[in-house]
Amino acid sequence: MREDFSAAAAAVRSPSQRAAGMPRSAIREIMALAAGRSDVIHLEVGEPDVSTPAFITDAAFTAARQGWTKYSSNSGLPTLRKQVAEHVGRAWQRPVSADNVIITTGAIGALYSALMSILDAGDELLVPDPGWPNYAAIAHLASAKAVRYLQPAERGFLPDPAEIERLITPRTKAIILNTPGNPSGAVFPRELMGAIMDIAQRTGIYVVSDEIYEDLVFEGQHVSAGMFDLPDRTFVISGFSKSYSMTGWRIGWLICPPSLASVASSLQEPVTSCASTIAQKAGEGALNSDGSSVRAFRDMFMRRRDIVVDVFGNTGLLPMVPEGAFYALIDIRRKGMDSLAFAKTFLAEHKTAVVPGITFGPTCDGYVRVAFTIGDDDLRKGLERLRRFIQS
Ligand code: PLP
Repeated sequence: MREDFSAAAAAVRSPSQRAAGMPRSAIREIMALAAGRSDVIHLEVGEPDVSTPAFITDAAFTAARQGWTKYSSNSGLPTLRKQVAEHVGRAWQRPVSADNVIITTGAIGALYSALMSILDAGDELLVPDPGWPNYAAIAHLASAKAVRYLQPAERGFLPDPAEIERLITPRTKAIILNTPGNPSGAVFPRELMGAIMDIAQRTGIYVVSDEIYEDLVFEGQHVSAGMFDLPDRTFVISGFSKSYSMTGWRIGWLICPPSLASVASSLQEPVTSCASTIAQKAGEGALNSDGSSVRAFRDMFMRRRDIVVDVFGNTGLLPMVPEGAFYALIDIRRKGMDSLAFAKTFLAEHKTAVVPGITFGPTCDGYVRVAFTIGDDDLRKGLERLRRFIQS
């Protein structure tokens, strides 16, 4: 008797439920429409427009010529792990052991390893709304449930510790924090970070703190979750992408709770094995520097942030002056369109790309995100088009 394989064959042709069910971000639609178009002003791109500083590229070339072209261990080159531990320890003003540092494939690789090392199917993960969509996507891949906590415009796009506490259930495993924040540019004050760390201590949840924009803070100081003395519950994520304009090198780091460092490192084996060794040598070059290139970057983004304030400051359309990163949220509610329709119409009619706020969560549909990652003149021109379009 011949068996009927048609159902199995159909299943072979379709993607897994896990892949098919992964939340997709509205940013892709706009990026696809805007990709490669030189007639478009690109306010959608979330990476610095300048090249990686030459001294970093030189360090990578030299290393490659010397033969640094093989695998490293899962957790990265010992020399870079030590450098990162010292770099982070200086900022936190306490010693950080290189044993707890894992070098990852970008900050996203660090997020992935951190979350995969703690999430079981059915666990709840608190994620910010608005917030970077990849958090919920990783929760989905781990069969965990993303539960959104709010960071509304009225609170300067910052979370409310009391609300976070109310959302914690026996299934809550961790909370993701992001400061400076994408998409708002909000920066956590010390008291806020302290209050959330207190909650983590009392409830036993993990804190996974995404601090990839830590060097791009315009006013005041970046406050890291790692500065609070809760190493057993805290993962801190950062890297080179935004501070050194190294997005394409795919290199970042994860500071782990001591008891989870080896498991988080072993999780890299079946996914990436290790971060690119040449990129790790470039990272060593970056951390060997005196920090002047990072300061110059920050000053450049601050100058551009001021252009955003200049164009939108007195319109009522800029709910919060960004204090860090290179993004601002612009209020589009008076246009009466949802953010995706707005972004598509604006691109079609005014040749300027922005990211629809819905990308970052349901509460952000009344906003679009602009990135100040292009030259000053185009930036001003694009922002003025946006202001006129909203006001028309
Ligand atoms: N975290 C946030 C909030 C980001 O916006 C980004 C990139 O846009 C990342 C992490 C990823 O950084 P990386 O390119 O180092 O993976």
